[in-house]
Amino acid sequence: MSEYFRHTKIIATLGPATESKEMLAQLITAGVDILRLNMAHATHQWVKDAMWFIREVSTEVGRHVAVMMDVKGPEIRTGKVERPISLKAGDRVEFHIEGADPTGDLPSVSVNYPGLPHDLEVGNIVLVDSGLIRMKVFEKDDYRIRLEVLTPGELTSKRHINLPGVQVNLPALTQKDEEDLRAGVEAGIDFVALSFVRQAEDVRTLRRLLDELGSKARIIAKIEDQAGVRNMVEIVRASDGVMVARGDLGIEIDYHRLPLVQTELVNACKADGKPVIIATHLLESMISSPMPTRAEISDVSNAVREQADAVMLSGETTVGGYPLESVQVLKNIIQSIEPTVPPGLNDRIKLKEPKAKMLRSAAVLAADLENSGIVVFTRSGFLAYVLGALRPHGVPIYAFTDVDAIFRQLLLPWGVEPFLMEFSEDPEQTILDALNYLKRRNWAKPGDCLVVITNALANDKVIDTLQLRHVE
Ligand code: PEP
Repeated sequence: MSEYFRHTKIIATLGPATESKEMLAQLITAGVDILRLNMAHATHQWVKDAMWFIREVSTEVGRHVAVMMDVKGPEIRTGKVERPISLKAGDRVEFHIEGADPTGDLPSVSVNYPGLPHDLEVGNIVLVDSGLIRMKVFEKDDYRIRLEVLTPGELTSKRHINLPGVQVNLPALTQKDEEDLRAGVEAGIDFVALSFVRQAEDVRTLRRLLDELGSKARIIAKIEDQAGVRNMVEIVRASDGVMVARGDLGIEIDYHRLPLVQTELVNACKADGKPVIIATHLLESMISSPMPTRAEISDVSNAVREQADAVMLSGETTVGGYPLESVQVLKNIIQSIEPTVPPGLNDRIKLKEPKAKMLRSAAVLAADLENSGIVVFTRSGFLAYVLGALRPHGVPIYAFTDVDAIFRQLLLPWGVEPFLMEFSEDPEQTILDALNYLKRRNWAKPGDCLVVITNALANDKVIDTLQLRHVE
């Protein structure tokens, strides 16, 4: 292998700082594996243009990326405020649902969620403006809640409201999400990240919609509140992967428990063999500085040591001044830390099928051989996803598929390097083609010994095999 083989994948969010052809080409060449389209700020035309652009640039630079559409989900926001309201600790303020009249004795601001007075109890905490203003409900009726300010701040229009620990009866998907998804499916997205997943049923609702739309996009459940954390096992089982969405999660739970919840989510994903993405504030300071803080370096290292499948950039690549440097910093940290992770496979995963168990043997064998790799052929992606979930250190997983969509979906799991290739009728020819491909592209060299998982014909019967093959 000519270059260090990186197991941890990199996701970058596309935005004004990275939309130019030159920057996109540089990001993809530098190692971004997945581009995220954040629908909180996007139009359908932008999605269409971005998809076309991404595919064109990746073809030009000869490196492919997958696209993840991040749908906003239902969001509670304040309405329009004529003039900013300055709130001191101890001040009182009212939120009324749209269409209801303010009581008149307190400054009153509308909110877009009619169920708010129903879902809240007196004594509940309400956080406004991404957690900056903290208030407590002291009174409510069917149309209004009245709050006392605990942490001061300036209340302006359309501020995000978080309700830590409150069971919110919002739908999993809004009308806007459904329209965004139609546009995304038409444009050919590979993954959908669903915001504020609170229960497994939210994932199933999205899956039904994708089925109706004829899309095979994989679903990434964003865990960002207490309900999502409480129901993590069922959510992980129902989804195709999880994003630890630390921006909102850090507001919705006690901030000092965030590292513990991150580890719990990583472990839940490892146990179920599902990819897990660590998102938000990884290199936040690099929005305005070419160097990360020391604490950020440690945070990224921790994600790599925990063996997350991917680390994700948001503001760093949407509005930051140093998007390319941010990707480079992630790569450097990954490259320094990965080789120091103690060897040994993921021992949490429960493998049921014999073929999946055979993958564990393949991983053990390849790790024992040194400078080896695993070659796998897959049409559904299943075998490559399981191999990635096993976390074989220092062992590249070369996954060959003849299905275009699966090829890009294999860009997410840890350690999987996917290749799109026609399969021959003859399994032996397919293996030879794959080995030649790896040799031509410098992934393998003559003399290398690779572990190959494939079907073989024996007396007209198709059997699963694990083979040792030398590259010639
Ligand atoms: C987050 O909250 O961490 C997150 C990834 O979601 P969003 O960027 O949609 O706020």
